[in-house]
Amino acid sequence: MSRQLFVTTALPYANGNFHIGHIMEYIQADTWVRHQRMQGSTVHFVCADDAHGAPIMIAAEKAGKTPQQFVADIAAGRKPYLDGFHISFDNWHSTDGPENHELAQDIYRALRANGLISTRTIEQFYDPQKAMFLPDRFIKGECPKCGTQDQYGDNCESCGAVYSPTDLKNPYSALSGATPELRKSEHYFFKLSDPRCVAFLEGWTADGNHLQTEVYNKIKEWLVPKEDGQRDLGDWDISRDAPYFGIEIPDAPGKYFYVWLDAPIGYLASLKNLFTKNHGATEGAKAFDSFLADPATEQVHFIGKDIITFHTLFWPAMLHFSGRKTPNVVHVHGFLTINSGEKMSKSRGTGLDPLKYLALGMNPEWLRYYLATKLNARNEDVEFSPEDFMARVNSDLVGKFINIASRAAGFIAKRFDGKLGGTSAHGAGVLDILRQQRDSIRDAFEAREFARALRETMLLADRVNEYVDQNKPWELAKQAGMDAHLQDVCTVCIEAFRLLTIYLKPVLPALAQQVESFLKIEPLRWSDADQSLGAGHVIGNYQHLMQRVDAKQLEALFEPPADATPAPAGNAAAAPPAEVPPGAAPGGEAIAATIGIDDFAKIDLRIARIVHCEAVPGSTKLLRLTLDVGEDHANGSPKTRNVFSGIASSYQPQDLIGKYTVLVANLAPRKMKFGVSEGMVLAASHGDEKANPGIYVLEPSPGAQPGMRVK
Ligand SMILES: [Zn+2]
Repeated sequence: MSRQLFVTTALPYANGNFHIGHIMEYIQADTWVRHQRMQGSTVHFVCADDAHGAPIMIAAEKAGKTPQQFVADIAAGRKPYLDGFHISFDNWHSTDGPENHELAQDIYRALRANGLISTRTIEQFYDPQKAMFLPDRFIKGECPKCGTQDQYGDNCESCGAVYSPTDLKNPYSALSGATPELRKSEHYFFKLSDPRCVAFLEGWTADGNHLQTEVYNKIKEWLVPKEDGQRDLGDWDISRDAPYFGIEIPDAPGKYFYVWLDAPIGYLASLKNLFTKNHGATEGAKAFDSFLADPATEQVHFIGKDIITFHTLFWPAMLHFSGRKTPNVVHVHGFLTINSGEKMSKSRGTGLDPLKYLALGMNPEWLRYYLATKLNARNEDVEFSPEDFMARVNSDLVGKFINIASRAAGFIAKRFDGKLGGTSAHGAGVLDILRQQRDSIRDAFEAREFARALRETMLLADRVNEYVDQNKPWELAKQAGMDAHLQDVCTVCIEAFRLLTIYLKPVLPALAQQVESFLKIEPLRWSDADQSLGAGHVIGNYQHLMQRVDAKQLEALFEPPADATPAPAGNAAAAPPAEVPPGAAPGGEAIAATIGIDDFAKIDLRIARIVHCEAVPGSTKLLRLTLDVGEDHANGSPKTRNVFSGIASSYQPQDLIGKYTVLVANLAPRKMKFGVSEGMVLAASHGDEKANPGIYVLEPSPGAQPGMRVK
């Protein structure tokens, strides 16, 4: 059954870079979207920058930019986050795009034609120096209750009192410092108190399909009449006076839509922009209209719990009374907390900076997996615990899942030319157990119960590992006449690994791609769980699929930045790399182009002990080194590495034996005339070796032990 879906995440406000809360929401929505695509559904997954409003107008002015330029600069910094965490949006747009201007004005006109727009004159604080009405957050003064100074116009951070800006004592404009004056202005209202709106929203929210139960319980209070007959749901002030960065209200010169009116319309604008990109302006507009008019289209919004009222009351009412399709599901998630349940905050140094995470070389799929193990269908906060993160990734993801392939693939490659065999009844039984869970795991993903989907998948991985432990392929490999059995057991492992990869693919898309290439198969779909690779299928060489988390990476991740001063507003995009002084050529060559810490982190340098060293017959340049890098001391005799190094002109072999040096430990093995070199030792030399001969092997200070990482 192929479905057609329109899926969105909340629009981020374009006054700063993404924080981890955005990334968590995108990962949640992306996982659900990838699950739908694997079922064969058509999905349009879109988002956009929320570009309008006074805060952006003011921040842009401070940065010396037009609001448009300010927003464009923020938008330019989005890609590294989205690509970095494998977020598969089909389109990223802006609420300042032409589609949004047109749609917002159309929706407004329809509401007005329906008799749902009214005007009223209100009194508001006005900054006479800046010549503008002040939003609540830009009015400060003394708390009317406790007298604390410098409090915002909506609530007191000292005593918690809630009030309106006109209650403040000695108010002043946070923009100019001027004393604001009360001025009258005509405002436009969306008449949500109209009985038609109330009746519609009572029905829509209570429907049982659109909202989570806990969200409905919270939102229905807005609709219940109080003792005085009034509801919390009053008419909604949707206008702001010029100067304002926003969309003009038709037939109302100098009036603009309040940013929260046009922000959710940005979902539709981004979708329309996508259709226009795919089909051209005319055909795209038609396709957009017919897609949304199709009753089969499902509209699904992922949002955080702080913006529930906008999405479950104002937004459905706007859509319904302008004759448009209303959302099928508004899915609300909680906040991400760290350790103590403390809300993540960048300034306190306890935050998880998404770009720093990537720059440290941490695998984005570790985070995708970890968050998925914590996410369910409820509006609950998600706790990030570094210890738990490490345990889930290392013990479950790598230890239980990746391990299955690494235990079996080598035997298939070395003993059977990569060819899979048949599976005996016992092995087929294990695979049947895995297949029987297929619908249950699919249903868990569908219901956004990702934690359950992964729990069930990991229990299946346990079953496969039990099977491996019972059959011990590493022992079969040593016994004569057991080849067929060995191939059978390893084939079951590979078939099982493929099934588990299908179940994990919505969460681990990049890993799944690596597995598909290793197994030499087409991109996996959910229905592929019915099939097998089958006897005779040839798989590729196994390459290590995933590293374990290193505790040091987590330490570095949560280390507060050395310079904790926040970046000035509007300057949040990544700083340009430092310039290299021209003409500098220390040691005979210029310093290479600047790299990020992420590039350096890819190079794994280890302390190595030179166990043995000998000349290479037939070569005047090379010495053959036998190195102990601390690998596999388990059975008493360390595994050593064979490395060829071009240092014969400077060293006698016996002089190096017993010395310590530094090895590039993750360099791809290189086949040379004299054998395979498994890494490279570090040595210094002048850029012009002929004029300045001499090669100097690096030696660590005393105390460094084989295997220690050099950073
Ligand atoms: Zn107070």
